[in-house]
Amino acid sequence: MDRMRELVDILNRWGYEYYVLDAPTVSDREYDKLYDELKELERETGVILPDSPTRRVGGDPIKGFERHTHIARLYSLDKAVSEDELSAFFTRVKKAGDATFTVEYKYDGLTVCLTYEGGRFVRATTRGNGVEGEDVTAQALTVQSFPLAISYKGVLEVRGEAVIRLSVLGQYNAEHPDDPLKNARNAAAGAIRNLDPKVTKTRRPEIFFYDVNYMSEGGVLSQVEAMEFLKREGFQTFPYLRVCSSPEEVFAAVDEIEVGRRELDVLTDGAVIKVNEERVRSDMGATDKFPRWAIAYKFEAEEAETTVERVFWQVGRTGKLTPLAEVSPVELAGATVRRATLNNYGDLTKKDVKVHSRVLIRRSNEVIPEILGAVSHVEGSVPVEKPKTCPYCGSAVEEVGANLFCTNANCPPRTVQRLTHYCSKNAADVEGMSEATLSVLYERCGVRKFSDLYRLTEESFTENGKFWDGFGKKKISNLLEAVEKSKRVPLERFLYAIGIEGIGRVAARDLAAFGSVEAVAALTFEELVALENVGEITARSILAYFADAENREELSRLREAGVMPYARERVTEGKFAGESVVLTGSLASMSRTEAQKRVEALGGVCQSAVSAKTTLVVAGEKAGSKLEKAKKLGIRVIGEEEFLAML
Ligand SMILES: [Zn+2]
Repeated sequence: MDRMRELVDILNRWGYEYYVLDAPTVSDREYDKLYDELKELERETGVILPDSPTRRVGGDPIKGFERHTHIARLYSLDKAVSEDELSAFFTRVKKAGDATFTVEYKYDGLTVCLTYEGGRFVRATTRGNGVEGEDVTAQALTVQSFPLAISYKGVLEVRGEAVIRLSVLGQYNAEHPDDPLKNARNAAAGAIRNLDPKVTKTRRPEIFFYDVNYMSEGGVLSQVEAMEFLKREGFQTFPYLRVCSSPEEVFAAVDEIEVGRRELDVLTDGAVIKVNEERVRSDMGATDKFPRWAIAYKFEAEEAETTVERVFWQVGRTGKLTPLAEVSPVELAGATVRRATLNNYGDLTKKDVKVHSRVLIRRSNEVIPEILGAVSHVEGSVPVEKPKTCPYCGSAVEEVGANLFCTNANCPPRTVQRLTHYCSKNAADVEGMSEATLSVLYERCGVRKFSDLYRLTEESFTENGKFWDGFGKKKISNLLEAVEKSKRVPLERFLYAIGIEGIGRVAARDLAAFGSVEAVAALTFEELVALENVGEITARSILAYFADAENREELSRLREAGVMPYARERVTEGKFAGESVVLTGSLASMSRTEAQKRVEALGGVCQSAVSAKTTLVVAGEKAGSKLEKAKKLGIRVIGEEEFLAML
């Protein structure tokens, strides 16, 4: 047993030197010799230590990815694409307090989260929707750039980006000429999200760590401390970290990255700028989607010239006609581009795009690149005709501003888009129900309404007793299971899913506070506009939606089918009942998240910013601008002691 411990320790040190420090101190042969000795010992004794390097082989293929809820939410980052937007970020930070900034590379791969308990690695998950991700432990175990055992003994979640080095990608493609990997980002995501860990291993992904997302005990006070902690514990970290004390220094660092990234062996598409100090971070808080204290600065996307071959029109959920161009295939930012969008009819005429013209296209973060404008026309250039009728259903087209709309509410692609929206991740989340599948269901078994999804059976996918092409038994049962699962949907996601015009996820959350669809349907115009995120136009569209007989019928069909949106329970009694509370500064006795939970458990509502609606401000240590604003507005302010007494 002692020998086993010794072997594990030596091999882990060598592995760390090789994979993380990139500075091996022994030959592969020496490593293999001890590795074999360890394997033999493990075979003889039947004991495998939790941090044994033999666990890194990844194991057998798995059937599917288990879902896992992150301890702390993994936010995505707000983006800036211009210096103006970056300057606006600095202004916001300045209001919150004195801060320094860190600048890092923004790697372009797949975000993963690693969990440790009692000093042991226990789980790896993808970011997923930030709240819930997929368990990719078996896949991550094949990656060598993180430790299986650490000295920190509490519960820990760290965050990193899984990437595939460009040189590794090149090598892989040279070895697999028939089945090359398209680009490094997709390759990294495909490797980690592969059901067979052996495949993950052959793609040789690595993970670079850049954040401590959760610590049950203790904590880090800044980004610099977080990075030091990660390095000390043996994680591979980003090699570049600049600490800047002014916006000017940040701009200089960003420029440095923009030049330097061309030389890197890893795909990067920008720089990440974070407020360094935790106290300023917690004061700034987060929006619905992003932390307010960090921003990703995206470098200008790459551009290329190509020829328009054909322009066709797509019809969206609202009936809007979007011109899409098929272009001669062109390589752009590591991918082959065949299609580019033109936003709307007005855009197409303004940019003077004609069929057979040479155009400039840009690929940024969007899935479909955009046409920036015509470069030159040729003799055979043909203007794109403005459609008088919908190319799908032949109905009249209406022009509103720069946009054209199909006037038929039941236009086939519109219906398919509505269904796609309903099934999407942030809506009813019917996993696997893609636009392509929904188009087939539309065509072949008359799926038109959301409620139609709930009458699907295995037979629906058959013709003459045989399954449709591309639909196996397993796939169908997964789809049906996902449909079944979507019956229990959080109210806010359901309200977003049904596609009331103007209702995004934020407004849906406001509405969900009323507890049920029926309660929302009964709201008056005055009650609606009183909500933080509902304006007059949206309020009218909500009223119109619930006044419509067809919508009401569909809602009752969904109810009959067993779709039961549930509201997150809201406590309305307690010490904080009726209070709109803003927490600011840091509390010595608990984290802000904890404090928020306790306030809500006692009937209070927490807000992120002080407004006229705020009734109480809890000010901890180093409370900043929020406290000043509260004083100005004459809002009641209490300190930590009084707060604890209320709890
Ligand atoms: Zn149409």
